[in-house]
Amino acid sequence: MDERTLISTFFDRRRGAGGPARGDVILGIGDDAAVLRLDPGYDLVAATDSIAEGTHFPVGTPAASVGHRCLAVNLSDMAAMAAEPLWFSLALSLPEADEAWVGEFARGLFALADRYAVELVGGDTVRGPLAATVTIQGRARPGCTIRRSGAAPGDGIWVTGNPGDAVAGRLLLPGPAADAAAETLRRRFLYPEPRVREGLALAGIASAMLDVSDGLDDDLRKLLAASRVGADMDAGALPLSAELRSVRAGGAVECALTGGDDYELCFTVRPPDEQRLRELAASWTVPVTRIGTVVTGSGCRWRLRGGALAVPDTTYRHF
Ligand code: ADP
Ligand code: MG
Repeated sequence: MDERTLISTFFDRRRGAGGPARGDVILGIGDDAAVLRLDPGYDLVAATDSIAEGTHFPVGTPAASVGHRCLAVNLSDMAAMAAEPLWFSLALSLPEADEAWVGEFARGLFALADRYAVELVGGDTVRGPLAATVTIQGRARPGCTIRRSGAAPGDGIWVTGNPGDAVAGRLLLPGPAADAAAETLRRRFLYPEPRVREGLALAGIASAMLDVSDGLDDDLRKLLAASRVGADMDAGALPLSAELRSVRAGGAVECALTGGDDYELCFTVRPPDEQRLRELAASWTVPVTRIGTVVTGSGCRWRLRGGALAVPDTTYRHF
C-alpha cells in the first residue's frame, strides 16, 4: 500500500464512514495545509508531543494503544492549560506499511478523537522507527489559560485520579494475563484518560496547573520552580488505588511519586476557592485529592507518618 492510499484509507475520513467533521475545519486533509477557523474572541493554544517505540511504549504495545496515547498525551496538555482542544495533525513514522497495524492504530486514535470532538486535519507519513507526533490546537478565552507559574504560599496542592497506576501497569505489560487488578493497571498505562473536562472546569479555580507525565514529584517540582515557591507534601494523603496497593504492596507510594505516564492533573487552589473546588469535584467521576500546601522558599518536602520521606530520583531523562 502506497503512502497516499494509506492516508486516504485510514486517516482521511471525509470519504469513508465519516467522523464528526467540525464546521470550523475549512480545509482538512488533502491539500498542502489545513485551513481552520478560530472563532473571534479566543486565543489559539498549541502543543506538540511525540511518543516513540522503546522510549514511551515497549515493543509489542497494541497498535490501538499507540493510537490512543499519541493523542491522549496532547489532549492532556490542552487540559493542563484549561484549553478546549479542537484540531490535531499527526506525523507518523512507520517501519513498514502494515495495514492491520495501521488500521488498529487509527481505531484507537479516532475512538478517543471522537469522544472529545477533535478532528485530524493533516499530518505527514514517513518510513522510519515507529513513532507518532501529534500537534494539537485548542482555544481559550484571553487570560483564562492556567499556567505553571501562578501558585502562591498557602495554596492547596491537588491531584486528580490515582497516580502510580500507569507505571505499575507498564511494569506488568510483559506478564501473562493475570487478575483483574493487573488488568486495570495495564489499561491505565495503555489507555490513559486525558482530564479534558476537569481541566476546563478548573479555569477560574486553579491558580497553577500542569499534567503529570514524568512522575508526580518531578512534575510538581516544575510547577513550584515556575511559581518560585516550595511545598510541604503529605504522602499519606496520596490517593493510592486499591489495585496499586494490592499489586505493589511495599512500593505503592514510590510508584505514585516517581512513576510516569499518569496524565493526571496536578494543580493549586487558593484557600478562598477551595470550597468551590469541592462542590465542583463532587460531580466528577474522577477523584481529586489534596496532597499538600504551597510554602515560601523552594523545593518539595514529602512527609509520611510524621517522618521525612526521601524521594528517589528515578525520573527518566532522554539525554
Ligand atoms: P505533501 O508532501 O505535499 O506535504 P503529503 O503527501 O505529505 O503532502 O500529504 C498529503 C495530505 O495528507 C496532506 O493534507 C497531509 O496533511 C495529509 N497527511 C499526510 N499524512 C497524514 C497522516 N498521518 N494523518 C493525517 N493526514 C496526513
Ligand atoms: Mg508530506
